[in-house]
Amino acid sequence: MKVAVFSSKPYDKTYLDAANIGDKPHRLVYFEDSLTQNTVDLSKGYGAVCVFVNDIVDGPLIKRLHENGVKLIVLRCTGFNNVDINAANSYGIRVVRVTVYSPYAVAEYTVAMILTLNRKTHRAFNRVRDGNFSLNNLIGFDLHGKTVGVIGTGKIGVIFSKIMMGFGCRVLAYDPFPNKELVEKGVEYRSLDELYTESDIITLKCPLTPETYHIIDREAMKKMKNTVMLINSSRGGLIDAPALVEALKNREIGYLGIDVYEQEESLFYHDLSDEIIEDDVLTRLIAFPNVLVTSHQAFFTDTALNNIAETTIQNITDFEEGNKLVNEVKH
Ligand code: NAD
Repeated sequence: MKVAVFSSKPYDKTYLDAANIGDKPHRLVYFEDSLTQNTVDLSKGYGAVCVFVNDIVDGPLIKRLHENGVKLIVLRCTGFNNVDINAANSYGIRVVRVTVYSPYAVAEYTVAMILTLNRKTHRAFNRVRDGNFSLNNLIGFDLHGKTVGVIGTGKIGVIFSKIMMGFGCRVLAYDPFPNKELVEKGVEYRSLDELYTESDIITLKCPLTPETYHIIDREAMKKMKNTVMLINSSRGGLIDAPALVEALKNREIGYLGIDVYEQEESLFYHDLSDEIIEDDVLTRLIAFPNVLVTSHQAFFTDTALNNIAETTIQNITDFEEGNKLVNEVKH
């Protein structure tokens, strides 16, 4: 099958080409551009488009894909909040995703963010390179005995909760569908308000949906401890970012780690080191000493990239051969 791969980076080509080794390999054509109204005509003549987290595949774009003859949208990621599934279904375009590739990658990265913010290894690294061996202002806290609140205990939330229990933390959770195994291991399901008030560390592990949009708003922040460490490695739209700036300026949040940002599409995955960044909220967030921002890299391990590539190729093969689409997203 002929597939136009958008937003492609050198590592996408490496892993997808390595996985595309069946009897009848697909014809993958790589475009660095994101899929937008300006680039959509690159899809003419292709049966499928392959997109990533920051390609916004909305109704008008799907209409153009349909006019160009595209029959399949292949997400090489788990979240599908960036695709209008209703619109795709109404044009008879099927949508597939990578349901699971490595929940460990994202769970472990969350721990990396917590430890970095807590023990300030990023600041120590820079200090010693400059011959500064002082420990002033590098004080952290023991994780042992702290209370960690997990919002969303699906695949990633479960693994993350178990890791934190290994540190000797008490884990509170909120999820409309509590996980029995976690309850047996000692995780306590609570209301969101209880989780906000009792937790020393709070992390988002739920998908972005109309119900979870800005689930962490100014009101929610006010309920948290002033020392709270807030970590978001799920989707930017879960947090009201301008409200974060206000709360940080008021010393109402102790630490913030974000791997995702609501307006990330035009920023993350691009080298903008020679550009003037016009997003005042993001630049303000980056400037706080107690904030760590990374550009949507929680998934970025060799294991995850291999699994993403293999499932992506299998999804395309299943569509081409008329097999059941086990990873289809339907409304
Ligand atoms: P999952 O579907 O296995 O689990 C999601 C959980 O969230 C489910 O248990 C669900 O019941 C729960 N949930 C739904 N609505 C909720 C609500 N209103 N409040 C609390 N919980 C709610 O998904 P997963 O594989 O664990 O991934 C979670 C999210 O992580 C994804 O949706 C994606 O946005 C994000 N993610 C980020 C990266 C990254 O690189 N930063 C990589 C992969 C996934």
